[in-house]
Amino acid sequence: MEAITVQSPGVTYTDQYIESKYEYQTTTVKEECGKYIVTPKTEGYVFRTDRQVPRLGVMLVGWGGNNGTTVTAAVLANKNKLSWHTKEGVRHADYLGSITQASTVSLGTGPQGEVFVPFKSMLPMVDANNIVFDGWDISSMNLGDAMKRAQVLDYNLQTQLYPLMSKMKPRPSIYIPDFIAANQKDRADNCLTGTKSELVDKLREDIRDFKNKQNLDKVIVLWTANTERFSDVREGLNDTAENLLASIKNNAEEVSPSTLFAVASILEGVTYINGSPQNTFVPGAIELAEQRKVFIGGDDFKSGQTKMKSVLVDFLVSAGIKPVSIVSYNHLGNNDGKNLSAPQTFRSKEISKTNVVDDMVASNSILYKPNEKPDHCVVIKYVPYVGDSKRAMDEYTSEIMMGGRSTIVLHNTCEDSLLASPLILDLAIIAELCERIQLRRAEESEKEFQRFNSALSLLSILCKAPLTPRGTPVNNAFFRQKSCIENIFRACLGLAPVNHMQLEYKTE
Ligand code: NAD
Repeated sequence: MEAITVQSPGVTYTDQYIESKYEYQTTTVKEECGKYIVTPKTEGYVFRTDRQVPRLGVMLVGWGGNNGTTVTAAVLANKNKLSWHTKEGVRHADYLGSITQASTVSLGTGPQGEVFVPFKSMLPMVDANNIVFDGWDISSMNLGDAMKRAQVLDYNLQTQLYPLMSKMKPRPSIYIPDFIAANQKDRADNCLTGTKSELVDKLREDIRDFKNKQNLDKVIVLWTANTERFSDVREGLNDTAENLLASIKNNAEEVSPSTLFAVASILEGVTYINGSPQNTFVPGAIELAEQRKVFIGGDDFKSGQTKMKSVLVDFLVSAGIKPVSIVSYNHLGNNDGKNLSAPQTFRSKEISKTNVVDDMVASNSILYKPNEKPDHCVVIKYVPYVGDSKRAMDEYTSEIMMGGRSTIVLHNTCEDSLLASPLILDLAIIAELCERIQLRRAEESEKEFQRFNSALSLLSILCKAPLTPRGTPVNNAFFRQKSCIENIFRACLGLAPVNHMQLEYKTE
């Protein structure tokens, strides 16, 4: 049963569904003779949310890596209510950094003022503690030893988790050396063999095997393996669903492991999320997902430096200040850093990190001429000693009034995997909920309900380079993304968007 009940003639609850009638208010704008003609528009929608929360399994590609082991450990620690001693005292398991588990939303106003509730209580969502994990890795190390190798969690917690995690072993995976850095070769001792078609079949078998063995209602597959280089996009190779499937059949070299995972998931009807920057979703993979009506989401977790950038640049540009130079420097010493020390994989990361300010810059024509952009440079260096404790240093130089300059410098040190792990949970939980939301236009009552588009842009808040349906806008600003998701979930409850107007306090 949900913690929130809406009392409204527009909202009905059945055993199966919450159904809401919703008035979507927008404005359309036309430019005529140098003037804007603006017309308010109201469209009626009906949202239907399935109330049955499934037993969810999440399969991680790269399960034995820092993120894979850390998120698995975090869920086990929370589920088992573990606490451990640190030099600062006793620490209890938590989900800090997760929007679904640790953020709140404003529900409305009560006698004591604004009422905030946990984000996860808005709609029936999977409980993070109930997620079952499985996955693949090219390294055969069991999850207990892999957790030790990652050097992320406190020793005292590791010792409690080891007996549980050492029983978990990643499934063999697809290793094509050309797609990741050559320095990863040493850990590749758990690799599948066969043609690309056979490999896709094997992955599909693995998904079914996990679902059956764990008695799951639903599975989601998420890539948190090494960053790959970009693959070529070529006519006839991967430009359409048909060509991509044919290329797999013909064992074409240029189909990457991550695209094979995406195809296998899509063919199984399973949502696939890409937590790394590479172009897994070549046009053929996107078309296949659309044809099969399966969700795909990504790309690249928005965990630290880019998350901050998507707040800070939005703030500066919205405040009428003009960022002219953004220089972002990182060094890290984990295996991700090692893999990114090769130029081709670094290039994938560089692309995904640099486009993040484009929409904010384009939104302010007072500050920027058409096609004008701030200088934007991203550097990543591998420094083994710092391990998972990544350093991110940023310098934002902006023009202020009358020829003035403002320079903001940030230095962030923190464990990378402890930032990414809560995002993995949010991606899985929100994507799963989206699978249970359907909508239709109110006046088209004869029409069937639809799901959101396959390219699930609702996950944008968690991704550095958000995947959106072709031809639709990308939104990178963090708080716009949060409002989008919060307000769509409110629409599922027939509630108006939060607009922060607080008119009730502005007149007698
Ligand atoms: P990691 O190197 O510790 O883990 C990756 C794992 O993937 C390794 O265990 C490796 O053996 C495995 N692997 C490589 N190729 C594979 C394949 N084809 N199939 C299955 N397993 C494979 O890295 P990490 O720190 O856990 O990060 C994982 C990914 O997430 C990286 O691509 C990274 O760029 C991305 N990412 C991380 C963060 C973050 O940690 N804050 C943020 C954004 C993106």
